Amino acid sequence: MSIHHLNRQDFNQFMVPVFAPAQFIPVRGQGSRLWDQDDKEYIDFAGGIAVNALGHAHPIAVNALIEQGQKLWHIGNGYTNEPVLALAKQLVDHTFADKVFFCNSGAEANEAALKLARKIGLSKNKSKIVAFNNAFHGRTLFTVTAGGQPKYSQDFAPLPAGIEHVAFNDLNAAAAVIDDQTCAVIVEPIQGEGGVLPADLEFLKGLRRLCDETGAVLIFDEVQTGVGRTGALYAYMNTGVVPDILTTAKALGGGFPIGAMITTDQYANVFVVGDHGTTYGGNPLACAVAGAVFNFINTADVLDGVKQRSQQFIDELEQLNHTYAVFQEIRGQGLLLGCVLRPEYAGKAKDIVTLAGAEGLLALIAGPNVVRFTPSLVISEQEISEGLQRFGRALSQFVAVHQ
Ligand SMILES: *Cc1c(COP(=O)(O)O)cnc(C)c1O
Repeated sequence: MSIHHLNRQDFNQFMVPVFAPAQFIPVRGQGSRLWDQDDKEYIDFAGGIAVNALGHAHPIAVNALIEQGQKLWHIGNGYTNEPVLALAKQLVDHTFADKVFFCNSGAEANEAALKLARKIGLSKNKSKIVAFNNAFHGRTLFTVTAGGQPKYSQDFAPLPAGIEHVAFNDLNAAAAVIDDQTCAVIVEPIQGEGGVLPADLEFLKGLRRLCDETGAVLIFDEVQTGVGRTGALYAYMNTGVVPDILTTAKALGGGFPIGAMITTDQYANVFVVGDHGTTYGGNPLACAVAGAVFNFINTADVLDGVKQRSQQFIDELEQLNHTYAVFQEIRGQGLLLGCVLRPEYAGKAKDIVTLAGAEGLLALIAGPNVVRFTPSLVISEQEISEGLQRFGRALSQFVAVHQ
C-alpha cells in the first residue's frame, strides 16, 4: 500500500485521540511553504510551533543531517561524542551558562531543571517550587503540574507535591509565596501557550531579587522564546535579568528533536554521576543539526532580521485589523506574535485558524482567544505579505459569518 492512500480518517482510526489536526496532510516543505497531498500550497506561519526556525528543508540543516547521518547516529552516554561537545561549547560561549545537559524535548529540559532545583535545595530543606498561572512547561507529570493550567493536570492526580502557583506579572503575589523554603521559581519570559503574554520587566527584576534574598534558583523556561525567536539569542538578553538555570528546546534543533538545560558551574556540580540521565539526550545526529542551526541563527544578520520582520508583521497585521476589527491587541516580541480577539469574538481563535488553513495559511492558537504566529526566523518579506493577505481573506470570512 502506498502511504499516499492514508488520509485524515486513518488518524481517527489509528491514533490515540489527544490531538485534533487539520483535515489536510502536509507532505513536503521548502522554506516557508508547504504542500499537502493534493499539492495545495500553504504559507507556514506556524513553524511547527516555533520549531522550524529556518523553515523547511533549509540546506544548512539538511547538510548537517546528511553529513552526520553518514558517520554516527547514536552511541549512548557511556561515550561522549564530538557534536555534543561542540554544541555544549557553543551554548556556553554565547550565554551566561557554564554547563549543559541535553535531552530531547522542552518538557525533559524542564524536568531536569526542576529536579536539579530540588537537589540544590535538599540540604537546606528547601523544596517549594513557585510557578505562575497559565504557564506552560510541558506534559510530564512534574512539568504539567508546574504548568499553570489545571485542565492539563487535574485528571492525573495524585500530582507531585510542593508546587505553588500565583498570578503572572503580579510581583506582590510572588513575594507572598517565595520564602526560605523555596528552592526555585520557574517562569517564561513570554508566556507562549498561555496567550503570548510578555512578562513585565519589573516583574522579572523583582523575581531575581526575591530569589537572591531567599536563596531560590531562578529558572527561565525559554523553550519557546529561545534561539533567536525574540530577536535576541535568548529572551533574557533583552531584559538584563540573568537566570540561574535556562531551558531551551523547540527551535534549538530547527525541527530535529532536542532540548537542553543550561546552568552555572555552581549549580551544575550539585548533580553527580547517576543523579539524572537519558538514552537519547546529546545524540550526535541531533547535536550536529542543532550546532549548524545555532551557528546560522546566532549572527547579527539573522537576529536583526527577526526584528525587521517583526515590525513588518505587526504593521501589516495592524492594517488588516484596521479593516476587520477582530483583535483588541497585537502583542509579543520578535516572531512570537499573538493577536488577542475582541471580547465579542471570545473563544473563536480556532475558527480563524481553520479558515486560514482553507485559504492556504498555517497559523496557531495560544488558548481560545489568541491567534499566534511563530514563523521561520528567515521567512521572506514577500512571504509575510502574501501570508497576511491570505489571513485577511480568512478574517473577511470570519467577520461575515459573525455579523
Ligand atoms: C512547548 C513548550 C514546552 C514543552 O516542550 P515539549 O518539547 O513539547 O516537551 C515547555 N515550555 C514552553 C515554554 C513551551 O513553549
